[in-house]
Amino acid sequence: MIATLGEIVVEIIAETPGVGFRAPQALVGPFPSGAPAIFIDQVARLGQPAGIIGCVGDDDFGRLNIDRLRADGVDVSAIEIVADHPTGSAFVRYREDGTRDFVFNIRHSAAGRTRITEAGRIVLAASRHLHVMGSSLFSPALIAAAQQAVAQVKAAGGSISFDPNLRREMLSSPDMLDAMASLLRACDLFLPSGAELTVMTEAKDETAAIREILGLGVGAVVVKRGAGGASYHDPAQTLHMAAFDAEEIDPTGAGDCFGATFVTCRLQGRGIADSLRFANASGARAVSVRGPMQGASSFAELEAIIGRAA
Ligand code: ATP
Ligand code: MG
Repeated sequence: MIATLGEIVVEIIAETPGVGFRAPQALVGPFPSGAPAIFIDQVARLGQPAGIIGCVGDDDFGRLNIDRLRADGVDVSAIEIVADHPTGSAFVRYREDGTRDFVFNIRHSAAGRTRITEAGRIVLAASRHLHVMGSSLFSPALIAAAQQAVAQVKAAGGSISFDPNLRREMLSSPDMLDAMASLLRACDLFLPSGAELTVMTEAKDETAAIREILGLGVGAVVVKRGAGGASYHDPAQTLHMAAFDAEEIDPTGAGDCFGATFVTCRLQGRGIADSLRFANASGARAVSVRGPMQGASSFAELEAIIGRAA
């Protein structure tokens, strides 16, 4: 099994591009969301056993997420339902230049109550890989839960992947950056996108940042480059792969689907180039579908994208 933990939220998307939410406007949603939830949904869609540790409220936003994850094959036994906090939410609006503005209600929502329960320990005990999102490290409790999960999976000989998934709206506490630094040291596979690579190091440029991170003992770094594709780096090799052509309708979730597909392919024994190709196809399909989790793909859907491009 592959496990993850963290925020399970709904996402509500502005219908029109523009700057933020300071005026009434048309919205669409709720969509099931949360970076760890999107990640684990994509793992399950590939037929890989998958489980998530998280917390939702006793409300329709929570039920929407649980029903969707369960339907896609995710083990939802470690999702705790709390009565006194609502399910988290994220409102997102795209600007004309493709950047995004968010309004988050996560830290003070049910997601902020996430902890490792007995059900969570059982999921972790069944897992040989754990994925952590930096966006989940938004409170001391979540940081502690992530560290506990990492320790349990590593002690059992499992591997760890880490995607910083930084959002400027979320970078609230210095604790978060410290926790990210410690996760970077603990992980086997690091999955940054763009500027996250240099934010998390002392390095001035990308090549130096990758060298610095591999020097920490991280086994491999995969850099996500949006429409520019992705590149894989380990101490022995570098491999760049161009993206597949895609019409970008909704970029949210692309990185999560990409990471889930890369991790799943590697654990299933596929080679680096093959895994990168499937991951690129997964990111390409994710951006072409509206709704953060709506674009998670099966292997058949990914093979169709790869086949069309060949
Ligand atoms: P997010 O955090 O918003 O989910 P990210 O910044 O972590 O995303 P991206 O680099 O945006 O990750 O996207 C991940 C992968 O998805 C890319 O490496 C690429 O393979 C694919 N992808 C993203 N955007 C496009 C695009 N416009 N066309 C084709 N493929 C894309
Ligand atoms: Mg990301």
